[in-house]
Amino acid sequence: MAYDPNNIFAKILRGEIPCDKVYEDDHVLAFNDINPQTPTHILVIPKGAYVSFDDFSEQASEAEITALVRAAGKIARDAGLAEPGYRALSNTGRDAHQEVPHFHLHIFAGQNLGRMIKPADK
Ligand code: 5GP
Repeated sequence: MAYDPNNIFAKILRGEIPCDKVYEDDHVLAFNDINPQTPTHILVIPKGAYVSFDDFSEQASEAEITALVRAAGKIARDAGLAEPGYRALSNTGRDAHQEVPHFHLHIFAGQNLGRMIKPADK
């Protein structure tokens, strides 16, 4: 799938629409989800143009991958989430209901998150 430069996270990265920023460095931006599913719900995204985790894991540089993973861990740690715990998750493609075609890692926390996921009804 080709990268769509008009997706909502590309617009956030260009500063065309606002976000509630949590963290930023040369490779990474993180902000609160506009429709949080848990008391804490942060989105961590690369600044580079990657459609999905599939695309990012294949095409991104070592520096970009390292930066995103390090940033996600630091964001969670700095928010005090490491001890109670959190879930880091990336929806990739149709079956995972990925809505925004710019790779993002969700960080969910602030409540008991249950053991795992429930598949949708067929
Ligand atoms: P996905 O389903 O692609 O894994 O998740 C997309 C996420 O982006 C959703 O949790 C949704 O609430 C969030 N989102 C969509 N549009 C915006 C926006 O304009 N600003 C922010 N902060 N989050 C958004």
